[in-house]
Amino acid sequence: MSEASTLARLDGEFAREVEENQSRLRGSLRASYDFIVCGSGSSGSVVARRLAENPDVSVLLIEAGGSDSVPEVEMVAAWPLNLGSRRDWGFTALPNPHLNGRAIPMSMGKVLGGGSSINVMIWARGHKSDWDYFASETGDPAWSYQSVLAIYREIENWQGAPDPARRGQDGLLYLTPPIQPNPVAAAMLAAALELGIPVFDDQNGTMMEGPGGAAYFNLRIRDGRRQSIFRSYTFPLMNRPNLTVLPDTLVTRVIIERGAAIGVECLIDGRGHRFLASQEVILSLGAINTPKVLMQSGIGDAEALASLDIPVIQHLPGVGANFQDHIWVASCIWEYPEPIAPHDNGGEASIFAKSAPALESPDIQLLQVQFPVATPELAARHSIPAGSWGIFPALLRPLSVGRLRLTGAKPEDPILIDSQILSDPADLTALRRCVALAREVGNAQALRGFMKREIMPTALGPAAMDDFIRDGVTTVWHQSCTAKMGQDNMSVVDSRLKVYGVDRLRIADASVMPRVPLANTMAPSVIIGEQASRAIARERKL
Ligand SMILES: Cc1cc2nc3c(=O)[nH]c(=O)nc-3n(C[C@H](O)[C@H](O)[C@H](O)COP(=O)(O)OP(=O)(O)OC[C@H]3O[C@@H](n4cnc5c(N)ncnc54)[C@H](O)[C@@H]3O)c2cc1C
Repeated sequence: MSEASTLARLDGEFAREVEENQSRLRGSLRASYDFIVCGSGSSGSVVARRLAENPDVSVLLIEAGGSDSVPEVEMVAAWPLNLGSRRDWGFTALPNPHLNGRAIPMSMGKVLGGGSSINVMIWARGHKSDWDYFASETGDPAWSYQSVLAIYREIENWQGAPDPARRGQDGLLYLTPPIQPNPVAAAMLAAALELGIPVFDDQNGTMMEGPGGAAYFNLRIRDGRRQSIFRSYTFPLMNRPNLTVLPDTLVTRVIIERGAAIGVECLIDGRGHRFLASQEVILSLGAINTPKVLMQSGIGDAEALASLDIPVIQHLPGVGANFQDHIWVASCIWEYPEPIAPHDNGGEASIFAKSAPALESPDIQLLQVQFPVATPELAARHSIPAGSWGIFPALLRPLSVGRLRLTGAKPEDPILIDSQILSDPADLTALRRCVALAREVGNAQALRGFMKREIMPTALGPAAMDDFIRDGVTTVWHQSCTAKMGQDNMSVVDSRLKVYGVDRLRIADASVMPRVPLANTMAPSVIIGEQASRAIARERKL
């Protein structure tokens, strides 16, 4: 028997063991666990694993979504099929006057693994300046670039060019550069060089300490399959008696008594349940549902809660404020002379740059996409051949900041996403520069062999170009910062991620970021999960 088939057999045996163990645990749910982790996404999967590594600690991981054992999650090229499916919360932002009145979709993962099960599998760690900013906002050097680098080194299993000072090779997370990059991706890097943009052999190495450059992505793909954070962190421990994973269960409220979180209320098949936590409750529901559940539990702006008849437990005006996201224009598109099928996740290369020379770090990014993507508004105005490729011009340091608003106390009452995208005029200025750079790259000599013609935007006058941007802007799905860590009165958690004014309640997910980093947000969310579990282990002497 070959090594591959032996491994496949062992995998199958382990999966059966997990299935049997978890049905046994779910069949005899306890009233109380040591820790309850709510949400199995990029951060929650990490916290659940780290706590359950200690066999004396019992952990309940609750997830609203269902199984991740479906081809749309596993097969890398299938990721777009998850958008709008039952594995997507299907959020939509409010109509936005700065986007020509458009109400843009705000997909988030609703499945075991959360975003890490439906995302584009890019591993981007964030810029040095991001982590040093997190440290200065919290006053805690544990968040500095140097500290976080040590965690990355510990958890990574990097397959690309060795860089022992920055990259780890023995960790849980298999990370690879594209194995056989699409020639159009290689040509994008050549186009960068042609324009004087340096090309690096690792996007997450020295490039993330300087003013920008071009590189292939790091990908969470192995043998053509997605490696979600849930599969890498949580699944390998699910044959143990101390880790219960409960899918298809909606957390509706944190139960708080005498100023401390003592458990959660949930809905299973529409019926109410309560689970108690003898040590802590950790909310990892993502940047939209964590603030929602906090507010519905009485933690938020006192006046807003009172107006919805929600008894106020803790006045924290920052809950739901400071909403941030990356945005991109979907997209600049060129037609292939001869179509080339996408490789990997369909986007393997990118360029980081500054929209103005005086900036302290890059603030714009070009992400390659090896098939055409357009918003409905732009698709209606252009005839886009299937055999096309594109570049997403993206804004990484948005100055526009939005807010989430609760509409009622019941779980089915929606939360409104007032994104405020492009409300700060500086963001439009930066995006204009970004689209111009995308066109310079796309039309460079190095990409000529892949270009029959430019489909959009082409050379437009200023008003038409602004209209293209306003009709093309959509989310990069990096919703974050809605329960930020920090020390001012808009902060919701301290540097150890404990909710101010409520004992035994922590938040570990993208909501705690003080600002959205210069990165796709999965890797920083994993770091947040690691930091939360390390803080818990230290404080509770586990
Ligand atoms: C389509 C898409 C593409 C993306 N591409 C990339 C990429 O290529 N690289 C990258 O770095 N980032 C990417 N991201 C972003 C990244 O996946 C997220 O930033 C990251 O997963 C956030 O982690 P989190 O733990 O904060 O939340 P999530 O991963 O969203 O996890 C939250 C979990 O909580 C569950 N949950 C929510 N509410 C409840 C409730 N009330 N009860 C029980 N469970 C609940 C959710 O179902 C979900 O599983 C993408 C995201 C999307 C949606």
